[in-house]
Amino acid sequence: MPTNRTLTRRTFLHSLGAAAAGAALSACAGTIASPPTSTPEGPVTNADEALQRLLDGNRRYVAHQSIEVNESETRRIEVAQGQNPFATLFSCVDSRVPPELVFDRGLGDLFVVRTAGQVIDSAVLGSLEYGVAELKIPLLMVLGHEKCGAVKATIETIEKNATAEADINALVEAIRPAVEKVRGQPGDLLDNAVKANVELTVSLLKTSPILAEAVENGTLKIVGARYDLDTGVVEVTVS
Ligand SMILES: [Zn+2]
Repeated sequence: MPTNRTLTRRTFLHSLGAAAAGAALSACAGTIASPPTSTPEGPVTNADEALQRLLDGNRRYVAHQSIEVNESETRRIEVAQGQNPFATLFSCVDSRVPPELVFDRGLGDLFVVRTAGQVIDSAVLGSLEYGVAELKIPLLMVLGHEKCGAVKATIETIEKNATAEADINALVEAIRPAVEKVRGQPGDLLDNAVKANVELTVSLLKTSPILAEAVENGTLKIVGARYDLDTGVVEVTVS
């Protein structure tokens, strides 16, 4: 049952947390960089703080020191009254890149939009604009990832000079400019295309009048990043 699984996982992780804390106390200073903490967090007031909070969470995740922040019943009741997420994550649907896990965040923290290869359509753009116009979210991160299947499929379709099936072709056509941009460049074509796709997506988002105005006003920052499937590390690639 999901409940039992959840309880078991939590109990296990809490045990790990206690063990890590014990290790931190007994280890030499400096050997454990950032042990788990339950220090209350202040409000996020700008994009830089939001980005720092994301990267701090990612560091905990990478170091197996997730603290399950904002997953409590108290938090659930608190955010039932209203949401105030500090970052928008526009990322891929890939099952290996779940934003709340990757950034060690919980309920009400992240406003998440996911499509294959972070492809934009009007519903996506409207959702992202809503996050800025109504929820006043200060940071929008476009998160691509290593070995993205949507980008890989686009490369294969282009190389075969083919057309993808049904609406999958809409994904291919949206990602095509990123692949075309880096074809012939040194390095791994797929990884280069993943990075280019994030760059072009960030540029495209800045053509939205609502998002562009917020960037201009200094109330929004749009950044691009890459998630490494092997290490779990999120690297900011466009800032
Ligand atoms: Zn992907």
